[in-house]
Amino acid sequence: MEKAQETIYKTVHQYSRGLVPASDMEKLEEIAKDYCHVKNQIYQRYGGIHSLAKLYPGYTVQNEMTQSGMRKSLGLPAAYFYCAVFDALGDVKSQWSYTRARVEKSIRSHPDLNHKERHYLRFIMKQSQCFEAVLSGKIPDISGNWQEKFEILRAEVDGRRLDQYLRRQVRKHLQKLHTDAADGFSVAVKGYRYGDHGIYLSTKEKRKRIFIPLTDGNQYERQLHISIDPDAGKIKIDIPIEVKTKNREDYCNEVGLAVGMTEMFVTDQGNIYGGRYGIYQDALTEYVREGQARYRRNRQNNPGRKKYYAGKERLESALHTYVNAEINRMLETEKPRIIYIPKLPSVPKAGINRKINYSASMWQRGYVRSRLAQKCRERSIELVGVFGKDISRECSRCGGNGSIGQGDFICSRCKLVLPRKHNAAKNARSRGRLLMEPKTAG
Ligand SMILES: [Zn+2]
Repeated sequence: MEKAQETIYKTVHQYSRGLVPASDMEKLEEIAKDYCHVKNQIYQRYGGIHSLAKLYPGYTVQNEMTQSGMRKSLGLPAAYFYCAVFDALGDVKSQWSYTRARVEKSIRSHPDLNHKERHYLRFIMKQSQCFEAVLSGKIPDISGNWQEKFEILRAEVDGRRLDQYLRRQVRKHLQKLHTDAADGFSVAVKGYRYGDHGIYLSTKEKRKRIFIPLTDGNQYERQLHISIDPDAGKIKIDIPIEVKTKNREDYCNEVGLAVGMTEMFVTDQGNIYGGRYGIYQDALTEYVREGQARYRRNRQNNPGRKKYYAGKERLESALHTYVNAEINRMLETEKPRIIYIPKLPSVPKAGINRKINYSASMWQRGYVRSRLAQKCRERSIELVGVFGKDISRECSRCGGNGSIGQGDFICSRCKLVLPRKHNAAKNARSRGRLLMEPKTAG
């Protein structure tokens, strides 16, 4: 089999350096305000039932918007105006996909529809011209044998009643879109230029670009998204970057993970990664505990803490190197498409003394999770958090309750004996799959 390379998008960021002057920020705010206005106009004009036919491929909308004269009257450069148009059209299209999915679900679960009626409705929803015609109350006139098929199906049902039902359903689920967010905008390539360690952006004033210094010297040539923060005097640029993934079709497994303090990860197959995690973690915790005790004892002598912090940093960095290597090894070995992991419980209350140790280890757990999340994003692996309550006490074979003894889970119903974390990982996988079910059924 040939190895297909898939292109995924990763967003990289750029940041303004120093404060953006208030007069420049005002110009950016004007653009953001107009951008928001254009989006709302698109929502209003093309968000309804009767505009469905105009949405694909979208050039009709683009032409109509050009002819509307709105761009001229706003004085908004084309590099922003058309981004707003397509940005809003994207939202309208997602709203339609959502609506279709909801309507299909209603048809599936409607108790009074018979087999032929369901079939007729599904046919309409599949055939886009047909769907558009029915929504605008017309009799469909579609090409070739589709028309024949449609007429055969319609002859066997009460078409008028079913068409009405479909229109009602669509109206019920299709929501009116609106936005008040004027905190950013997208800009096409011709609306900006990189240079002088910054970016020049078009404004509403003809031929006047403002210059914003950036913290890095990278340059891109694609549509950018600019977020503005007028209070802080900052901007952020989001750039979607295409990344070629490697052998993505190998990554096809569904993996349940249990996260532990001794062993970092145990999979639902019982594989262990980060088996020495607990040793690294204990060394760090112990060092922090001793260091703090020593500090409290000698506080009046005002001891220097430089040595302590250097030692702590060394241990921490050894732990982090280990964590990263083990996450990589897990991903490369397990080749997951999707990972199910129990959500972190909220921090329980603890006594003063325990709190120190507890927070140190909690912080490291946060580190493990955030590194895992980042590495999954880079490889476009889906990471799904599952409900973690009682995940260690439920039997992964029969669902019964069990107890924990000497690191093993023992089911009181079916007598299953399994290492505690292995059992929990199996539960994570089955809870995760349950969670994903409604999505894959559609
Ligand atoms: Zn059991």
